[in-house]
Amino acid sequence: MIAKVYLKRGKEESLLRRHLWIFSGAIARIENDENLLEGDIVDVYTNDKQFIARGHYQIGSITVRILTFQQEEINQDWWTLRIRQAYQVRQAQGLVDSKITTCYRLVHGEGDMLSGLVVDIYGTTAVVQCHSVGMYHSRKQIATAISKVYGSKIESVYDKSSRTLPFKAGIDTCDGYLTAQHNHVGYVLENGLKFEVNWEEGQKTGFFIDQRVNRELVRRYSKGRRVLNTFCYTGGFSVYAADGGATEVVSVDSSERAVELASRNMKLNFGEQIPHKAIAMDTFDFLKEMDDSFDLVILDPPAFAKHHKVVHEALKAYKRLNAKAMQKIKSGGILFTFSCSQAVNKEQFRMAVFSAAAIAGRRVRILHQLTQPEDHAINIYHPESEYLKGLVLYIE
Ligand code: SAH
Repeated sequence: MIAKVYLKRGKEESLLRRHLWIFSGAIARIENDENLLEGDIVDVYTNDKQFIARGHYQIGSITVRILTFQQEEINQDWWTLRIRQAYQVRQAQGLVDSKITTCYRLVHGEGDMLSGLVVDIYGTTAVVQCHSVGMYHSRKQIATAISKVYGSKIESVYDKSSRTLPFKAGIDTCDGYLTAQHNHVGYVLENGLKFEVNWEEGQKTGFFIDQRVNRELVRRYSKGRRVLNTFCYTGGFSVYAADGGATEVVSVDSSERAVELASRNMKLNFGEQIPHKAIAMDTFDFLKEMDDSFDLVILDPPAFAKHHKVVHEALKAYKRLNAKAMQKIKSGGILFTFSCSQAVNKEQFRMAVFSAAAIAGRRVRILHQLTQPEDHAINIYHPESEYLKGLVLYIE
């Protein structure tokens, strides 16, 4: 029997506004919970016993992740419909069957009404990443739904959830293919440029798809500039800078494997002759030692704040990083600076960059305010799905 979660009086407010999480503090009691396990489907009721939603049960501060506000069965047809709806949005965005871009995000968690699920498409491979036990238990149905919606266009579905499932769930799992066909490494196109993607060994699902639109802007500003791409990972921004006509590109990442991959991607697009230096080094150290000859700098660090508790420390790190870059960038230089920390909001990030400008004592104009691309859609009722923030600055 499905367990019934009763909310404290008045705690249905946010659900009526279609927010998708129920926190433990909102719950009055749970009925039929003798056999309730993390990941099971539960029904949510108001204190007055009115049904409001159905979702995945989770142990922790988020106790229910809502899947639907209707009393409908969560079966294969349900999964296929949700995946089809996500697909139709990407079709409307021109991403499905595009000749110049073959990688995009198909499912962006709450943005696609699938809390706890991410699916990225790399050519003929889909990479599924579950952030909740409920989604993990449904992974085979999700893979079947992807196959039904895409037909032969998707050959292989890879599950990469081992590092994203809640640690406390204690699920001992390894990543692996959910289909008979196993595509191990792929080459994708993004805005006409080529990239090698290794979803089995790479960070996240293999590539940072969320910078696609911002990378195009780097391409636009790179002509005749000496470009520094820090935290470069696969060299996404480096490749666009070179394509845009940069005189030289320097890619920096603390990971040796990342800078090798960045070099491979540069060669894949431009051959051996391209003026590119790849340096395995800590960005903070690099900025301390570098000269002042760069006139386009990209700062795209990993999330400095993964939780609200560490926001203060993260803001200090953003301030320090940006101040260093602003001190050294050439006059008339362009700085692309990003934060992908969900816990840091737009205003806080802008404030950190403002403080950095003041420390560096430079005259700074904001040229663009950037965010995540259209396939990382934001659910209007669930603003937490917005995470990427960026500023493009002109430094006099
Ligand atoms: N800009 C990239 C994504 C960056 S992901 C893109 O467009 O794809 C963050 C990267 O920062 C990772 O590759 C990680 O290895 C690197 N990194 C983390 N800490 C670092 C540090 N202190 N110095 C340099 N690189 C770092």
